[in-house]
Amino acid sequence: MAAGLLALALLARPQAAAAQPVAASPTLRLEVEGKPVAVDPPPFIEAGRTLVPIRFVAEALGAQVGWYPEQQQVVVGYPGRQVVLTIGRNRARVGDVEVPLDVPPRIVAGRTFVPVRFVAEALGATVEWAAATYTVRVWRQPSEVRRVTLNRAVGAAEIRVELSAPLLSYGVETAPDDPKRLVVTLFPAVPATALPAVPGSDPLLAGLRFEPDGRGLRLVVDRRRTGPYWLERDPNGLGLTLKLSYQVTGIQVSQDGWVPVVTIRTDGPVAYQTLTLTQPDRLVIDLPGVTPAAGLPAEVPGVPALGLQRVRTGQPTPQTTRVVLDLAGPRPPVITPTADGLVVRLPPHLTDVRWEALQGRTRLTLFLTGPATATAELLPDGRHLRVRIPQAVAAAPQVKQPGPGMAATGLTISQGASGLDVVLEVPYYQGHKLLSGPGESQVVLELEGSPLSGRQIWVDPGHGGHDPGALGPSGSQEKQVNLGVALRLRDLLVQAGAQVQLTRQDDRFVELRARIQGANAAKADIFVSIHANSASNPQAAGIETYYWDNHPDSARLAQAIHRHLVEDLGLRDRGVKKNDYLVLREAQMPAVLVELGFISNPEEERLLTDPSFQQRAAIAIQKGIFDYFQQE
Ligand SMILES: [Zn+2]
Repeated sequence: MAAGLLALALLARPQAAAAQPVAASPTLRLEVEGKPVAVDPPPFIEAGRTLVPIRFVAEALGAQVGWYPEQQQVVVGYPGRQVVLTIGRNRARVGDVEVPLDVPPRIVAGRTFVPVRFVAEALGATVEWAAATYTVRVWRQPSEVRRVTLNRAVGAAEIRVELSAPLLSYGVETAPDDPKRLVVTLFPAVPATALPAVPGSDPLLAGLRFEPDGRGLRLVVDRRRTGPYWLERDPNGLGLTLKLSYQVTGIQVSQDGWVPVVTIRTDGPVAYQTLTLTQPDRLVIDLPGVTPAAGLPAEVPGVPALGLQRVRTGQPTPQTTRVVLDLAGPRPPVITPTADGLVVRLPPHLTDVRWEALQGRTRLTLFLTGPATATAELLPDGRHLRVRIPQAVAAAPQVKQPGPGMAATGLTISQGASGLDVVLEVPYYQGHKLLSGPGESQVVLELEGSPLSGRQIWVDPGHGGHDPGALGPSGSQEKQVNLGVALRLRDLLVQAGAQVQLTRQDDRFVELRARIQGANAAKADIFVSIHANSASNPQAAGIETYYWDNHPDSARLAQAIHRHLVEDLGLRDRGVKKNDYLVLREAQMPAVLVELGFISNPEEERLLTDPSFQQRAAIAIQKGIFDYFQQE
């Protein structure tokens, strides 16, 4: 420290020189804080400046002084504030700044004389020249300590001192007789405030008091323990903060359900940095500015069954405590800072989602970083299945959706207060089973497949192209109604996992025989032909469904579809009927032909051409097909 260097050099004396004072009368006098100071040899005036032996200037200001013969330099000042003068040179250095000097220092009769006003003002004092009494007066105004506050800040405990003016010197050191006691020196300073009361519960401080020290002040800080400390000065010099480092006082390992919990106890709020290491997996938590308390164990047993092997403590630098969690695999932490430490939880994180299509079932696997227990529950709407994983956290931003034909049509992941909810859309829910048990790191769920999953269904929109089918009184064409319903039915069946082929997907003509030949060649599981009815009597109305004896299950398919059409569309029930239409007669699979209503009836024509009615008709047919396969 510069102060030490100054103190060592204090006794050195400038070399003798031959110069003599230019004028010696009348005798100049020096006063410091109003008190006369005897100066020998006496000050003199040169070029309008008063030069005084350096020793008296230093004493007047309470400064330290040093002499460096090789450089012919004299250094005067306090820690943090110094003036460097060179014999015979009219430039000086104040702090880091070079400034001009009217009159350079001189050596007279073996003594170094310096310009008193320049040096005193550079060190913050006031200088007056009293011409009547031929006196130089030096005044040091002490800084007032206006406020002292205690603050348990994050990272270190703080004792903050607010000042009315910058100090000439300050410092902190440990009392020689008591390592727990710190003494902050403030010079020159006077107290202008009461010190704050130290709470009896304060883990670091036992007491604070001021002690006058000549024109300075000592702030005595009694700590409950030793430990690193440091002093920080505000850039404007109007504040000093003594910082006392916190300690890690304990490490505790516990478990909350399936979650390992490491509690790092400190005697104040700390900042931290984490680092994740692999091979083996470790979580490193560094607490900068925090030291381990005496007796802090180097190792604490973990909860190996939950993937936390042990917790170790160390000190990578004298000012840092390191806590290392040895892990059985990657475990992202959730760290919560508290007033007295950190709570480190290792909850299971959902890192990946896998879907698999099995024979008639769909399997969902949720990969977690640690053990958990899941529950699965069909929600009251019957269309959503919720897998709840208490305490879990979502780590995978990418949510993989189920593929086509699977027993779920969507997946959403939401983070709730109690854990993770994985919600599956299961519009064709048939049942589920949780295959994983409590404490496993994977959640495995199997969904029963839709009865339509993997089925081949041939949908035949009647007519098309130059064959409009029946015509409605307002000019609508049956072929359009049939196609509209068929396309909607196709979408619903595909969503439910079926493979669907259509005789036509647009307005084109297809021969009757080609329609059923296509279905036979494709070895479709069922054949559904869609038509609208017509009669010369505009009052004729209602739904009828046809089948033939081509296949023993054709009647059952017709019954299933017809029942839902009548229920859902609310039109007159004209019954299930048998007729040897070509497309039914030649079908090698169960086959039906539905007549959705009478396009010749003005009221039903309006319905048949309405897209929402077409959608309801498609849903009703899909329900019937669903029932048919489920009864199988
Ligand atoms: Zn028709």
